[in-house]
Amino acid sequence: MNTFPPTDFETLDPQDWETMRALMHQMVDDAVGYLANVRDREIWQQMPPEVMASFTGPVPTQPSSAESVYEELQSTVLPYNMGNVHPRFWAWYMGNGTISGVMGDFWASVMNPNVGGGNHAGIEVERQVLNWMKEIMGFPASASGLLVSGGSMANFSALTVARNVKAGYDIRQEGIRPEIAGKMIAYASGEVHSCNQKALELLGLGANSLHKIRVNPDYTINLEALANQIQEDRAKGLLPFCVIGTSGTVNTGAIDDLPALADLCEAENLWFHVDGAIGAVAVLAPNAKASLAGIERADSIAMDLHKWLHMPFEAGCVLIKDASAHKNAFSLIPEYLAKNTRGVASGENWPSEYGLQLSRRFRALKIWMSLKEHGTEKFGRMIARNIEQAQYLGRLIAMEPTLELLAPIGLDIVCFRYNPGGMDLAALNALNKEIKLQLEEQAIAVPGYTTLADAYCIRIAIANHRSTTEDFDVFLEELLRLGKLLNG
Ligand SMILES: *Cc1c(COP(=O)(O)O)cnc(C)c1O
Repeated sequence: MNTFPPTDFETLDPQDWETMRALMHQMVDDAVGYLANVRDREIWQQMPPEVMASFTGPVPTQPSSAESVYEELQSTVLPYNMGNVHPRFWAWYMGNGTISGVMGDFWASVMNPNVGGGNHAGIEVERQVLNWMKEIMGFPASASGLLVSGGSMANFSALTVARNVKAGYDIRQEGIRPEIAGKMIAYASGEVHSCNQKALELLGLGANSLHKIRVNPDYTINLEALANQIQEDRAKGLLPFCVIGTSGTVNTGAIDDLPALADLCEAENLWFHVDGAIGAVAVLAPNAKASLAGIERADSIAMDLHKWLHMPFEAGCVLIKDASAHKNAFSLIPEYLAKNTRGVASGENWPSEYGLQLSRRFRALKIWMSLKEHGTEKFGRMIARNIEQAQYLGRLIAMEPTLELLAPIGLDIVCFRYNPGGMDLAALNALNKEIKLQLEEQAIAVPGYTTLADAYCIRIAIANHRSTTEDFDVFLEELLRLGKLLNG
């Protein structure tokens, strides 16, 4: 029998495809069980020292069987997950993931194309997904966009385009001219996400180029203070170039007055960027859509599909209204990336010309599959339900004398604390921190936290398509039990 390549030819493929097929079938069964039974497992548990020690070994130089590697994964990795797949995880701001997302990521790795560019299905799927995102956000078809790792990269990408356009000289060639770029100022509320400051630092403008404006009692940007700061800065010879509005702040879910910011940016000739990592996709929810009116007037939007659209990490998206400005900020084509008129290297406007990454994974596939399977209306219902659940939780808190709401409820974010009365701020902060930790350690729920005006808050951010009303009932019952217990 002739076999080519010869059977002793070494590759990274399995020696025996049938054994590998059986193992992968087992993994699929286990994975479906893992998600179907997510409610029955502990939401979070501390990794024991002996398990932790298993991650301190030297690099493997010799092979192990795939079966034994999988066994190790099952005993040392799977039980110690972060917990955000669970219905009672409401910390930071994260999605749950979905099976359709898993299938998309699976096939993305099987096909393993490089979606940096070229002429192949991965490029078309991403274009389709970007066009859907434009449609959802009310952006024109002529706008451009890119799938990126997450909100941080989406904001970074948009602010890069904003800087380059508003610098008014070839900043890519010349770098930071002190008399121009050195004076460029961006504005955002004090509640703006830290990644925007990081972006300005990396863009060479410095953290000082971000002027943070005070907020109203509802945590939205104070428009009068913003307008005054812009005038004051102009009078000083500084060069305002950009306003960053937030649709869904990370602390309290506040949505800045987007139409007013759009008007101001028009009048002042400033780039209007919206950090919509939390709230942009809430335009899909009938009970939130109106509060996001005006977002379509932005020059750029940062979106985070691994948050409220529940795509598996990582899935961010940036939209830029002026497609040529977007391309001008990132396109650079050396001879080894020159395009052909036919074949796999053909096609214009490669994704790598719109962002920092050259090699890019097939992120679009999970989004394409999930949106086709569920449709935007269903995603909108999931978002709407989370908003209703935040209001429900708010009502329970209002009815309970020992609980105190610490901020207006924005979208799906509830900040509150246990306050039995008669305690000073330091004691209250310590008590609430302890309650939060015990809820986690007893695997009851994983609430989030933040600090507002020096008060430690238990912060519930409900981007969770698995949470039911009863989950919030149980959560508050247990919280009150712990509060009483810890307060003696
Ligand atoms: C989460 C978040 C970000 C950062 O997004 P990542 O996906 O974590 O990089 C930016 N802005 C806001 C408002 C966020 O909530």
